[in-house]
Amino acid sequence: MLKLKGVKSTFLSLGAVFGIFALLIHFQSQWQDKLTIVNYLVYPLLAVTTLFATQFNRSRVAILCILWLLYLLSINNTVSWSNWLEANSEWLILCGANLFLLLAIIKDRALFSIHGISRVIFILACGAATYTWLNVSQDIEGVLPETSFWQKIQPYIAVIVPLCVIGSVLLWRSLSRNSLTLTALLITFLVWSFSQLDMLTLPWSLIVLVMSSVYLFAVSTDSYYLAYRDDLTSLPTRRALNQLALSLGRKYTVAMLDIDHFKKFNDTYGHDIGDQVLKLVAAKMKSVRGGGKIYRYGGEEFTVVFPRKTAAQAIPELDTLRANIANYDMVIRNPKRADKSARKAKKSNDYKTVNVTVSIGVAQRQPKQKFEHALKNADLALYRAKKKGRNNVSE
Ligand code: GH3
Ligand code: MG
Ligand code: MG
Repeated sequence: MLKLKGVKSTFLSLGAVFGIFALLIHFQSQWQDKLTIVNYLVYPLLAVTTLFATQFNRSRVAILCILWLLYLLSINNTVSWSNWLEANSEWLILCGANLFLLLAIIKDRALFSIHGISRVIFILACGAATYTWLNVSQDIEGVLPETSFWQKIQPYIAVIVPLCVIGSVLLWRSLSRNSLTLTALLITFLVWSFSQLDMLTLPWSLIVLVMSSVYLFAVSTDSYYLAYRDDLTSLPTRRALNQLALSLGRKYTVAMLDIDHFKKFNDTYGHDIGDQVLKLVAAKMKSVRGGGKIYRYGGEEFTVVFPRKTAAQAIPELDTLRANIANYDMVIRNPKRADKSARKAKKSNDYKTVNVTVSIGVAQRQPKQKFEHALKNADLALYRAKKKGRNNVSE
């Protein structure tokens, strides 16, 4: 099934960044006299973003910052290759786009390791490939059929067509994954292309200042999610639960949910299928009503917190959830088996249907009780639910 996990974050980020640019264009007079400050500010900001990104293992963002730094130095005529760049604007725009595409494909590996050298080689190869392409595209233009269609397309083949292809790939990667680094690369590509094609006319130092802020935001938000979201189920983690505990009022109800006989399930079907079931149970839990907030407490245990609700209000919702999970026929994909016989097997054998049940323990917070204490009571109630024969909600 096709899953586009990054649609919301991609469009929100695109809207925010282009909104900022629209405001900057609209209020030119407000910042025009402060441009010298921007020119000085952009270098330290790029340096800070590079360090920050390296610290959080976002080496691709660090590479982006270094590339921007090189570009700013080049256009300010301070390096030996400045004149060459000015004379080869087609190469510049396309090479930039290719580098963004390259960064969207490679992984965030430590810069100060053997991978750092491979990154430099990749970047140089990108430059050489762009140079070769521009030569080849001239030959292609020479042998195009003389129909009006091809004649119309001809001026776009060297730069515009590749830009559209690269843009589509970057858009697809940003939409299909939930990664702000990929979204930042898409935004960088768009800003770069629009500026180089004179469709966005702002000073480069200001553009880079905005982009650097975008990278800082992307790295910090991604790192926040890494710390507070569980990788397997994408539910908030226990750390996020502890955070919520600090802001709960006096009245709330806590529930502990545990999958029944999950060890036996793992032993029968294997750990990979166990993981898929955990994901499906987590997805089902997200549909809980009554304002319940879901967390993966650890292993096959989940916590549901109902702020401002009594146990009597929460129990019917939890029982509906319990019944939903028990009646849910989970379609599980068999992990790929390497042997030929398995590959020859019919497609229907690759899927199977399994069921699990859950037990739930509920506790309402008592006056003057700490969160940990209410959680402990929910755990004791869970123990009673297990003793009662599982697949039930107990108080
Ligand atoms: P009970 O009904 O009493 O809860 O029995 P149980 O087997 O579920 O209880 P127990 O706590 O002994 O076993 C929990 C099992 O959950 C152990 C482990 O194999 C499995 N488990 C915990 N975390 C994960 C995980 O992330 N993935 C998978 N596949 N299994 C996990
Ligand atoms: Mg358990
Ligand atoms: Mg269990």
